[in-house]
Amino acid sequence: MSIEATNLTACQHCRIRDALAHFSSAGELKTTTFISKPISLCEECAKKYLRSAPEQENILVSAQWRADEEHKSVTRQYQIIEDLGNNRIRVKLFKGAGDSISESELIIRKDLVPPNARLIGATFKLIGTPLEIDLIECSAN
Ligand SMILES: [Zn+2]
Repeated sequence: MSIEATNLTACQHCRIRDALAHFSSAGELKTTTFISKPISLCEECAKKYLRSAPEQENILVSAQWRADEEHKSVTRQYQIIEDLGNNRIRVKLFKGAGDSISESELIIRKDLVPPNARLIGATFKLIGTPLEIDLIECSAN
């Protein structure tokens, strides 16, 4: 799912920083037909985009490694706790593995969650670059 940082392009929004995060959508906006067109943004603009973009059926995120970042994937497991409406869901987050699992809760965008895992109580796992996981975990705050 991750793209190697070989051909960095400029952020399509600020046009200053390198575009590290790439978004595309599957499906339609709730009110109008949405033509999916991937957009590539720097980390800062990507976070703003996620906090303000209208709800979509399913946003797909792919993010590259940050400069000088160790190329080590991050694994997270989540459980859906509550649908808060307005494209927000409360999830329980499980970090770590084995005896060192820690639990916390956070609120994320619902349209970032795989459609087949959106029921209350459902669990899903994400494996991605640190930036991919950060974008999802700060998508609604
Ligand atoms: Zn930017």
